[in-house]
Amino acid sequence: MSAGPGGHYLVLGAGGLGCPALLGLVSAGAAAITIVDHDVVDASNLQRQVLYTTADVGMAKVDAAKVRLRSRDPRLHVRALRLRLDATNLAPLLAAQPPGTIVLECSDAPDLKFMVNDTCLAGQLPLVVGGVQRWRGQVQAVQRGHACLRCMFEGPPPTELQEPCSLVGVMGAAAGLLGFWMAQLAVALHAGEPVAGTLWAIDTRTLLPQQMRPRPRPDCPACGAARST
Ligand SMILES: [Zn+2]
Repeated sequence: MSAGPGGHYLVLGAGGLGCPALLGLVSAGAAAITIVDHDVVDASNLQRQVLYTTADVGMAKVDAAKVRLRSRDPRLHVRALRLRLDATNLAPLLAAQPPGTIVLECSDAPDLKFMVNDTCLAGQLPLVVGGVQRWRGQVQAVQRGHACLRCMFEGPPPTELQEPCSLVGVMGAAAGLLGFWMAQLAVALHAGEPVAGTLWAIDTRTLLPQQMRPRPRPDCPACGAARST
C-alpha cells in the first residue's frame, strides 16, 4: 500500500477518539488508512464510538471499522491490524509504514501516547496526538524540529494518578469534536501546513480553545535527541 494523493494515515486506537477521527479522515478524502486496535466492540461504549452499532458488539473493532469505512468509500484502502501496542511492536510497526504516513494517536493510555511521541520522532513520522477526559480535551501536531508532547508535559502522570476513561467518563460529543479535530490536523500536516508544535486545549463547557505554541525544550529527551541525529 503506498500513500496516494489523499495520503496514508495510521490510526492507533479505534475507540471514542479513533471513531470520529476515522470518519473525519474519510470525509477529507484520505486514500488509505491503517487501523490498529486490540479490543472488541462493547455495548457500554457504543454512544461515543460512533462507527459501531449494536450489531457489531463482540466483533473486533478494527474489522467493524473497516467494514463501516469501506461502505462509505469503496475506493478507500483499509488495513485492519488487531494488535495490542507495546514497547516491542510499536517501532517495527511504524518503520513498516509507507513514506508520508501521518500517525494519529487515539488511545486512552497516557503511557502509550508518550511512547508513540518518542517513537514517531525517532522514526521521523509526523504525529497528531489527542486526549479527552470528562469535558476537556487537547490535540497537538508533533513533528521533528517542533515542540513535542514531552516538551509540554514531560511524561505521563504516575500510574496511581491515572484515571481510566471507564471510571471518570468522557462526554461523547467532546470525544467527537476532538476526534474530528485530530483528523483535520492530520490532513493539514499532510498538506504541509505549519501546524506542527501547536497544542490546542479546550473545555467543551465553554468551547473557548487555548492555543499554545511553545519552543522545543533543548533538554527534551524525545525531540532534543531527534534534533541532534
Ligand atoms: Zn520534545
